[in-house]
Amino acid sequence: MNVLRGSCLCGAVRFEADLPTLFLCHCHCHWCRVAHGAAFVTWTGVKAEQLRQLGAEPFWYRSSVRSERGGCGVCGCRLFYRSTSSPGEVHIAAASVTHGIDRKPSAHIFIDEKVSWLEIGDLLPQIPGSDPRLRRYAGDPTKE
Ligand SMILES: [Zn+2]
Ligand SMILES: [Zn+2]
Repeated sequence: MNVLRGSCLCGAVRFEADLPTLFLCHCHCHWCRVAHGAAFVTWTGVKAEQLRQLGAEPFWYRSSVRSERGGCGVCGCRLFYRSTSSPGEVHIAAASVTHGIDRKPSAHIFIDEKVSWLEIGDLLPQIPGSDPRLRRYAGDPTKE
């Protein structure tokens, strides 16, 4: 298979995306944690044109001046992120992908915002928000 597939908890929102994905990483930023009610969120990403909605259209919630978070209007499941900080991309919560993840996680990002009660037991790089690789996400007015 050269696609990934996934859905929300209730199955109303179903999606598929052409592979390859662009990345897979664990995000510890405040915004992901609170939006998903989770210690961190593992994201993959694709170009917007690689993603197809197969069921109900997801809702899009403007979570900051630059960014929107998408999910299922029935079960409330958070599934997607898009931002002018990553133009042309849609990021997909990897936990909602039932098959087709085509890579291993590469890093923990925004590690400086990690909750104190989580102990990381892998050897992946731990990248703070000040790292040049994350600079395109910095300067978001809601994060200052
Ligand atoms: Zn749902
Ligand atoms: Zn995040």
